[in-house]
Amino acid sequence: MADRLRVCALYPALMSIYADRGNLLLLERRCAWRGIAFELTRVGHGDDLDPDAHDLFYMGGGQDRDQRLVAEDLVTHKREALHAAAARGAPIIAVCGGYQLLGHHYELGEERIEGVGLVDAHTVRAAGGFETRLVGNVAIEVTLPGLDGPRMLAGFENHGGRTHLGRGARPLGRVVKGHGNTGDSGFEGVLAGSVIGTYLHGPLLPKNAWFADWLVQTALGLEAPLAPLDDRLEDAAHAGARRAAGVPG
Ligand code: GLN
Repeated sequence: MADRLRVCALYPALMSIYADRGNLLLLERRCAWRGIAFELTRVGHGDDLDPDAHDLFYMGGGQDRDQRLVAEDLVTHKREALHAAAARGAPIIAVCGGYQLLGHHYELGEERIEGVGLVDAHTVRAAGGFETRLVGNVAIEVTLPGLDGPRMLAGFENHGGRTHLGRGARPLGRVVKGHGNTGDSGFEGVLAGSVIGTYLHGPLLPKNAWFADWLVQTALGLEAPLAPLDDRLEDAAHAGARRAAGVPG
């Protein structure tokens, strides 16, 4: 069994709202509890990115302002490395503002922020103010490679952008409660090979420990699921998030 997980946090200073640090901490804890060493590398604006130096890439959410700064660096400095990592099947997970930058572009009125084009999708900022944001608790049903059936992810969303998937993209999940990609498509997130984008933050991984384990297993290329842990607290967090979304389970 692999004894080390190398995680790359992309732009942790600029793209880290709504518990993104907690997501990384949860990965670290669950590895530690199983005796898997955990290495976290922070790769920020202007830094080089080595596609082979990490098993799992994580990019969190961010405000439009910070996304502008990040997008330019992402496209000019890190696009090739991220495509290389995706091509060898390394999981890349991006949340909300990060998810929006995985696609072709993010449109804000007249302005267009280029994305890295890792997934066939684009995002358009809804006109209007706060009332047009898609905010609230959300639950989605996902089917992931290697799992025996559909599972539930529960979390929280808060975004002004609407993400439209192209023909070449499949959603991460089906919205059971909440808004998802556009508010009316019935879909949430994107799954393209090992690249995952989702609007679910508000401790995504602490509320869905099974998903954290799936990411670790996939990143390490393990056939068998990770050894179970005492997940009473994690199960309670998951149940609470589902109840908040109105989908008790
Ligand atoms: N700025 C983006 C939007 O509002 C993403 C926000 C976020 O990451 N919460 O759509």
